[in-house]
Amino acid sequence: MKVVIIGSGLSGLLVAKNLHDQKFSGSVSVITQERGVFYSKPSLSNVVKQGKKVKDLVQMTQQQIEKDWGCEMITRQQVARIDKINKLVHLKDTQVPYDRLVLALGASPICYDWLPDSHPVYRVNDLDAYDTFHQAIDDKSHLLILGGGLIGCEFAHDLSAIAGKITLLESESTLLSRFVPKEIGMGMALALKDRGVDVKVNCAVSAVTALKDSVCVRTQSEEISADVMLACLGLSPNIKLAQEAGIICDDAINVDVYGQTSDPSIYALGDCASVSGIKRYYVSSLKICADTIAKHICGVKQGIVYPPLPVGVKTPDYPVTFCYSEVPAEWRVERHDKGVRAVAYQGDELVGFALSGDFIKEREVLKGQMKNWI
Ligand SMILES: Cc1cc2nc3c(=O)[nH]c(=O)nc-3n(C[C@H](O)[C@H](O)[C@H](O)COP(=O)(O)OP(=O)(O)OC[C@H]3O[C@@H](n4cnc5c(N)ncnc54)[C@H](O)[C@@H]3O)c2cc1C
Repeated sequence: MKVVIIGSGLSGLLVAKNLHDQKFSGSVSVITQERGVFYSKPSLSNVVKQGKKVKDLVQMTQQQIEKDWGCEMITRQQVARIDKINKLVHLKDTQVPYDRLVLALGASPICYDWLPDSHPVYRVNDLDAYDTFHQAIDDKSHLLILGGGLIGCEFAHDLSAIAGKITLLESESTLLSRFVPKEIGMGMALALKDRGVDVKVNCAVSAVTALKDSVCVRTQSEEISADVMLACLGLSPNIKLAQEAGIICDDAINVDVYGQTSDPSIYALGDCASVSGIKRYYVSSLKICADTIAKHICGVKQGIVYPPLPVGVKTPDYPVTFCYSEVPAEWRVERHDKGVRAVAYQGDELVGFALSGDFIKEREVLKGQMKNWI
């Protein structure tokens, strides 16, 4: 049997590793438009301060992956089309046949027509982008971070140690507003201000002008110039290939509890997929899916189980964690000097929590009180 995996992020490569661990006897090819190395993407937002370069982040080279996990890597190649009738993956000049196809296509930064996408405006979602962004900033730079969600806050925390000046712009009234109650977002803003970050909330950007070595942003009340901009405005699942192949998608590729799409020969996982309607852009869930899919390909039918999966925000001065399968409509919030504890119930059932500061230590106890999500 020939398995073809599209994508060499954590999702794609963990399927390759799990197939190897399952002693899969067929062949495995990984096709990727990237350089095809194994690295931890979450670290990109908290290692600039440590001066880490791309070579320091690579945990396995292409050659090591091929040798240790017994797969073939086809790198720097973009898949143009999937022909699910004839089971072929079309690259620019060639076609690769498959018996089972795994879509590990990830998600891409959302593009806005008012936002330039070249120097000095950056988005960091892969190693190449990290590399160029890293080279563009130094201790004299004024860096403007657009977006106070998870990634924006993590970068602001990390880079405050090295950039000359940081301004963080958020259009909502608090940071992390899509994820946690406003009390935690306000705590995050204070913690970042203590690190010297100029945090501006309620600050919607109406225009961005990129010049050769500077960028100018217009908001409703002022104009701000900086040397470099980092846009952290969210990601959108890469579904175009699947959609064009006639695979059922909503805003992600729909899969069942075995990771199978509407075509049983094609699986999907990670940032591009939603499992039984649950969409997660985090590592803990994709690891579970990679294990299930590899087993299913090897003939072991064991459905995906999602226990409660907390997410941690990598801002050590103000640690935050949250856990829910859907953002709760209503929180019960307790606020103390040393942090915030928020819980959400449906009837008597605990369906979510968000903790900051010293309350983080309650994470395991609260997690233990929640039901599995799938
Ligand atoms: C800065 C940052 C910090 C993060 N921090 C955390 C964290 O603390 N905790 C956490 O759980 N999660 C975190 N995340 C999210 C986590 O990193 C992602 O959920 C995870 O890495 C997604 O992996 P993936 O393999 O699904 O997608 P990706 O890593 O995006 O991989 C997609 C792959 O598909 C390939 N591809 C796409 N289209 C094609 C095509 N047409 N042809 C060929 N190849 C194609 C790409 O080249 C790439 O190799 C963070 C993300 C970022 C960006």
